[in-house]
Amino acid sequence: MLNSNIKVGIIGLGLIGGSLAKILAQKNYSLVGVSRSDSTINKARELNIFDKVSDKVDDVNGCDVIFVCTPINMMGEMFRKLNEVMTNTCIISDVASIKADIADLGNDKFTSEFITFIPGHPMAGTEKQGIDYAFPTLFNQAKWVICPIDPSKKKEIGLLSQIIKDSGANIIYCNPHIHDLSVALISHMPLLISMSLVDSVDSLEDFILKENAFYLAASGFRDTTRIAGGNPELTHDMLNLNKKNVLKALEMFECSLAKLKKTLNNDKQEAMDTYSELSEVRQKLYSELGSNVFKGLSG
Ligand code: NAP
Repeated sequence: MLNSNIKVGIIGLGLIGGSLAKILAQKNYSLVGVSRSDSTINKARELNIFDKVSDKVDDVNGCDVIFVCTPINMMGEMFRKLNEVMTNTCIISDVASIKADIADLGNDKFTSEFITFIPGHPMAGTEKQGIDYAFPTLFNQAKWVICPIDPSKKKEIGLLSQIIKDSGANIIYCNPHIHDLSVALISHMPLLISMSLVDSVDSLEDFILKENAFYLAASGFRDTTRIAGGNPELTHDMLNLNKKNVLKALEMFECSLAKLKKTLNNDKQEAMDTYSELSEVRQKLYSELGSNVFKGLSG
């Protein structure tokens, strides 16, 4: 089927929803956008890439595939509304940064025979929020996790996969529980640590030291704290809704920090061996341009 004959609905035209709309427009999909504020709706209309933009969830009825790109805490309400208004066969996916609770929520709310729900999560983003920061190459070479609830729905998984691939992303199938512990380790815990690095200087009582430290902070502090400058609502949702896994990940981090603290008292060679090993692991993860090039543990 031609992309122009495939109607894609995007609910929540912020960083993720707006970026998805921009790239899918370049690939000629027909788009319907739904957002909440007049300001975002007007900006989306000015892009001239949607057949329709409104604040009414009902307007996505008739779309073949719908991506729910709202904050995580709005998903339950969105799913409930979609379940009420959809009177045509459709695939619904989401982009929420947690998956087990969202899969359960979908199972609970999507009772309509018209809806096939396939939870998803693009592993791409920035610390910015809103449509002004959306850009079409956001998903280029990124991994996009999907967690099919019913693997027998091959046609639906195929169509969703085609759209995701057209966004530039590579699909990874993942169990929602493994996804949630993995993202606790590589996304949510780093967020907490990044905020704690900022806090450890910001909460200094010694004004002169604090001012001097912030004054000298260069690329090392900038790179390790970038995500602390992000969207507080998303931070709250991710940390709270994935709390069990974040706490497990923090325990693992505390063990690792204690191990590294000990290296401070080790002789130089022992400490250097540890640092070299970790430096090698890190170097294998990303290309010069920052893409994840990890090839698996045996790769
Ligand atoms: P965002 O830039 O704040 O965008 C969220 C959008 O949702 C806003 O534009 C807002 O619309 C819209 N919205 C909120 N309530 C709504 C409602 N009731 N009806 C319709 N639209 C509504 O946030 P984001 O970073 O794109 O995050 C969105 C989702 O992507 C979250 O579920 C998050 O977990 C997931 N995600 C984020 C990242 C990341 O790095 N940011 C990465 C992967 C996945 P208005 O502007 O009209 O108010």
